Amino acid sequence: MLRTKALIIGGGPAGATAARFLAGSGAEAILVERDLSYVKPCGGGIPSTALEELGIPEEKVTKRKITKMRIVSPKGESVEVVMKGGHLCITERGEFDSHLREAAKDKGASILEAEFIRFNDIGKNIISTVRKKSTGEEITIKSDYVVAADGITSRTASGVKSPNCGSLYTISAYIKPTPSPSSPPTRGGEIALVPSPLMGEGDDACEFWFGSNHASNFYSWIFPSQGYSSIGTGSKDAKELSTFLDRFIKRRFGVPLKDFAPLNFSKKTRAFRIPLWEGNLFNIKNILFAGDVAGMVMPITYEGIYYAMKSGEFAARSIIEGKPDIYKKLWKSRFKTRFLLMSKIRNYLFKDDENIEKFVALHKRPEVQEIAMRLWLKKEAGSGSLISYLNFFRHFLKI
Ligand SMILES: Cc1cc2nc3c(=O)[nH]c(=O)nc-3n(C[C@H](O)[C@H](O)[C@H](O)COP(=O)(O)OP(=O)(O)OC[C@H]3O[C@@H](n4cnc5c(N)ncnc54)[C@H](O)[C@@H]3O)c2cc1C
Repeated sequence: MLRTKALIIGGGPAGATAARFLAGSGAEAILVERDLSYVKPCGGGIPSTALEELGIPEEKVTKRKITKMRIVSPKGESVEVVMKGGHLCITERGEFDSHLREAAKDKGASILEAEFIRFNDIGKNIISTVRKKSTGEEITIKSDYVVAADGITSRTASGVKSPNCGSLYTISAYIKPTPSPSSPPTRGGEIALVPSPLMGEGDDACEFWFGSNHASNFYSWIFPSQGYSSIGTGSKDAKELSTFLDRFIKRRFGVPLKDFAPLNFSKKTRAFRIPLWEGNLFNIKNILFAGDVAGMVMPITYEGIYYAMKSGEFAARSIIEGKPDIYKKLWKSRFKTRFLLMSKIRNYLFKDDENIEKFVALHKRPEVQEIAMRLWLKKEAGSGSLISYLNFFRHFLKI
């Protein structure tokens, strides 16, 4: 049996960050990740300010720097927002997660490629069974604390019968359009997207397209990266996903998905769930739940990487102080107002396409753009910014 102060289950952004902070403070930490070569389906977009706050070197993890954002309404009204005070870093999730785990290892955390199987005992100590990937051997680990960071498909949460958080479904793909007589030639292997009135080659803009015809309770997106783009859409009904993606691609590019060549590192499309935040899971005794397993994804934007990393940091700080109950307090004092506000706006926004039209129109106002960007890019922005943003909605949209 192995013995450690903290066992971290899951080596994504939440778990790897928890391991880094724990080991950095001198605490014994073992991180188990079932597959070190796993690449989570994800756009990989992280605000530069978030990387800075968490001490992650931007130049090491960024594939492409995005400085503009376009929002397109169901009727085709488009707003372009130039990011100020930061930008969006597009990372590749396999590499990004590996970087975070390496940083944890450098601080002294042990990384084990093993799958969490079950909790044998949850008492003063926690006894867990994990299965090593290389040999299939089962190992028991005795720890004072567990950071459960095994994502939305969590086995830890079901192991303690914790409250389930709701979720939406996404479908995404990495695309590199097939050159065809109608598309421009590639230059030096660079990506050449099918021509569109909105997006040119080398355009450093991410795009968010709204419309219930191709996204429900969600948006469809394009995040350009290095030599490819992440595209995708979301729905509350898994059965709609493929149709929605086809419709979005037709709307955006005028051609079907089959016209795009798959990239050699990825399957053509991948479906995956994304949590809906409910704020009801923090810790059960000495098991602290961080990231997607606890639903910590921002409503509307569905940004989860930053919040996963911060929850990992807060979980680690609580363990270091020996007070697992302060985890909830740390999280709530920093993020609760923001999450509640965004949930409220989401409920308004996704009621129907008319509301989305009004939402997009509202973001044509420079003062609304400024506040929205401040909230997205400057995570420490105080409640003043939140209240101003909500006031715009109250005033103009009467919500
Ligand atoms: C299509 C899509 C696009 C997205 N785009 C963005 C984006 O652009 N920007 C953004 O901020 N967020 C985005 N998100 C959300 C973001 O991906 C998640 O919020 C984030 O990955 C959560 O991190 P995590 O560490 O909690 O969980 P995960 O990243 O899911 O990590 C969990 C880890 O646990 C491991 N694991 C699972 N079970 C076990 C087990 N039994 N034993 C051991 N290990 C286990 C997994 O292999 C995985 O490595 C997107 C989500 C989706 C679905």
